[in-house]
Amino acid sequence: MNFSLTDNQIMIRDSVRDFAEKELLPHYKHWDRSGDWLTKDYMQKIVDMGLLRLRLPEKFGGQGYSFVDCGIVCEEIGRADHQIRYIVSNAIHIGEMAHAMHPDLQDEWIPRIANGEMMSLAFTEPRGGADAGNIVTKAVRDGDDWVLNGEKTSITFTGVSKVVFVSARTGGPGPRGLSFFLVPTDTPGLKMVNFERMGQKLDRGGSFFFDNVRIPARNMIGKENEGFIWAMTIIGYNRNFVPLACIGAAQKSLEETTEYLKQRKIMGKSATQWQGVAQELAICATQLESARMLCYKALSLKDMDMRHDAESSMAKWWGVKVANDTLATCMRLNGHYGWAKDLPHEQRLRDCLGMESADGPREVHLGIIARDIVGKQFAPF
Ligand SMILES: Cc1cc2nc3c(=O)[nH]c(=O)nc-3n(C[C@H](O)[C@H](O)[C@H](O)COP(=O)(O)OP(=O)(O)OC[C@H]3O[C@@H](n4cnc5c(N)ncnc54)[C@H](O)[C@@H]3O)c2cc1C
Repeated sequence: MNFSLTDNQIMIRDSVRDFAEKELLPHYKHWDRSGDWLTKDYMQKIVDMGLLRLRLPEKFGGQGYSFVDCGIVCEEIGRADHQIRYIVSNAIHIGEMAHAMHPDLQDEWIPRIANGEMMSLAFTEPRGGADAGNIVTKAVRDGDDWVLNGEKTSITFTGVSKVVFVSARTGGPGPRGLSFFLVPTDTPGLKMVNFERMGQKLDRGGSFFFDNVRIPARNMIGKENEGFIWAMTIIGYNRNFVPLACIGAAQKSLEETTEYLKQRKIMGKSATQWQGVAQELAICATQLESARMLCYKALSLKDMDMRHDAESSMAKWWGVKVANDTLATCMRLNGHYGWAKDLPHEQRLRDCLGMESADGPREVHLGIIARDIVGKQFAPF
């Protein structure tokens, strides 16, 4: 058992932190308030930093990062701008999907995504996202094409993505009747409509409507009716990137709040000399560290190709919860300043609260953990 980062991982952490502090953090508020999309120059910095090539195949300039390495990147990005993590982790997923993509699709889309064109992943439907195996969006084979009809909702990067990876029913009921498709967003019949979300403003939520959207058969990712396996592979490890970015955001707020409280005088002494205040900071630090360890343990299991579903579920629900608890505590300890929009704590909390639902709500994860503990008596799947 070794809890230390390797020299290479320390270098990754330090270089991404340095980049994120200098290039991302100063703009965090702007993207939230303005509604602007990233400028070309801004995206180019993310591209040049290699953040969209972490796990691409070598021939597309992939950097061979392990899942733990990618987790470190997500945590560091989360410290500076939680919204950017989605861009980075989506690009990680393309690396996982690449080997199941038709070579022509690989050649066309991987360089585009690695160079900053956005992609969306669309599983959730209006009837519910937690039950991802029972979607109703349909794909029907018609000669050399597939024709898609249905609706996806709460999809990140609606309106700015150039391509969407979408799950659709190609077979019987349940998870074994699903396939996964690559659909360019300018395909006739595909419409994107944005709706306003409380946080993650840059990442633009909305709905995708598929009205007889026709795509070539080669646009299927992997094999027919095996789409759920793909979805679960991606969602499985992503359940650690999501909390790590929240933990990064909360850690940053905790550090800023600690510095503020050291200076703040409360009834003649520093706020941190009051035991009640210092212990609140200690509780937050303990909870964040415990959650961080869960995430990295699950990611290292993934790196070793070992089962990590229960561990990832523990990391997901606990990591997001303690990050949000920490952010709320930081807001409270900053007094009325914490409530003001000048400080970043409220934005971080708005951004991270959405992560309670994204990649599965807590009840789903408790169910996965319970199945691991109790066995099939709890859930027969
Ligand atoms: C910021 C953000 C970004 C997102 N980005 C994407 C994206 O890019 N692509 C995408 O496909 N989706 C995305 N989503 C949607 C997300 O995946 C869904 O919100 C999630 O899967 C839950 O689905 P739902 O919201 O429809 O809730 P439902 O499935 O309707 O569940 C509602 C509530 O019921 C309870 N519940 C659900 N299942 C169970 C259960 N098994 N046992 C007990 N209680 C249960 C939970 O409290 C849950 O919150 C995003 C969501 C957010 C908030």
